[in-house]
Amino acid sequence: MLQTAHESIKNAGKRMGLTQKEIDYLIQTDKEHEFEIELSSGKKFNAFRVQHNNKRGPYKGGIRFHPEVNKDEVRALATLMSFKTAALGLPLGGAKGGVAVNPRDLNDEELEELSRMFVRSLHEHIGPDKDVPAPDVNTDGRIIDWMVDEYEHLSGDTTKASFTGKSIDGGGSAGREAATGRGGVIVLRELLKYLGKSNEKITYAIQGFGNVGSFFGLIAEKDHINWTMKSATDSSGGVASEELSPAEINSYKKTGAKLSDYIKGSKITNDDFISSDVDVLILAALGDAITEDNADKVKAKIILELANGPVNEKAYKILTDRGVIVVPDILANAGGVTVSYFEWLQNRAGEHWSEEKVNKMLDEYMTKACKDIFTVADKESVSLKEAAFEVAIARILE
Ligand code: NAD
Repeated sequence: MLQTAHESIKNAGKRMGLTQKEIDYLIQTDKEHEFEIELSSGKKFNAFRVQHNNKRGPYKGGIRFHPEVNKDEVRALATLMSFKTAALGLPLGGAKGGVAVNPRDLNDEELEELSRMFVRSLHEHIGPDKDVPAPDVNTDGRIIDWMVDEYEHLSGDTTKASFTGKSIDGGGSAGREAATGRGGVIVLRELLKYLGKSNEKITYAIQGFGNVGSFFGLIAEKDHINWTMKSATDSSGGVASEELSPAEINSYKKTGAKLSDYIKGSKITNDDFISSDVDVLILAALGDAITEDNADKVKAKIILELANGPVNEKAYKILTDRGVIVVPDILANAGGVTVSYFEWLQNRAGEHWSEEKVNKMLDEYMTKACKDIFTVADKESVSLKEAAFEVAIARILE
């Protein structure tokens, strides 16, 4: 994933006529914090926070708890964050954190201890004007609330603007939970408008029916009656049918059941998913879902990167050469960081905005970002990914 991120920056930089020094500046990370967390039970975990670039504002990016977390992945995700905040025009930089842990192996007390110890090791380097972390894979409002509490004890800062993605009672924003999925729906709506296909019926398939994937499906089902979901998967595999209801699948998933056990439709694996016979693939699980090994199987004409880095650079080339439109992660999944930015603004001003206001502002920010990027793509005859990086690079170097 790191290579994919660097290739995207280098390619866009070269097209823009940047010097090698400027390209190196865009790639290098500002600071990399690496530490070990030892719980009172004696369990030890490697932890990271990479701060990539704060030229446009405080570092911003999630904290992931996942067994496969490693420094290169955190570096790649931190780098993508700087370009994502810039592509959206937000006055924020980019960072990412992670702990190499499977949270399912920890009980609640251990999870809380891990979350608090992460902040204890890092508190001098974060804060409302320095670095504002958020949830990511396997972290949520409950974990962030523990982190905020720990940060308050250590720093005395009570603004709650040190983290975003908090619970609503803990100072979080209305609309944050659904924001990434909602942003994805807005981007797909704008793309279809741009392609002159707004009124056509479209079919789609979701890989990773978790937080982001489920909200994409739920909002699409409510706002776009001519969009039909035909398959959905989670890490266990999933189902395919002529028509599936995101709301029904969401209720089923809320019981804790696996999608591979869902009784409607035919069973599919995540390998089968890639060749789903649909117009749009929604990739909302993890990175590197489509690589050079399976890109040839893709039948869809549009891919929405709701996960970070789900299409690697080689696959991206194979797909774009075939005319498949890949909507890049730094645009497609930017709804989350955009509402995180609104949360940070609300905390700093001591305000709480209605969900209606948050959703309306999210729509305005995402629609404007789409227009900026589609305009560059048209003008320069480049792909949406190339255009998104060009827009972001120009803003970072401004
Ligand atoms: P989540 O843990 O809620 O959901 C992930 C889903 O993917 C789960 O249903 C899981 O079972 C499934 N999954 C895991 N491995 C899979 C595999 N190999 N094949 C198919 N499905 C698999 O996480 P989330 O918050 O929904 O995040 C999903 C992706 O979106 C991540 O890549 C994350 O970095 C990215 N993202 C999330 C946000 C956010 O606001 N949550 C913002 C930007 C980007």
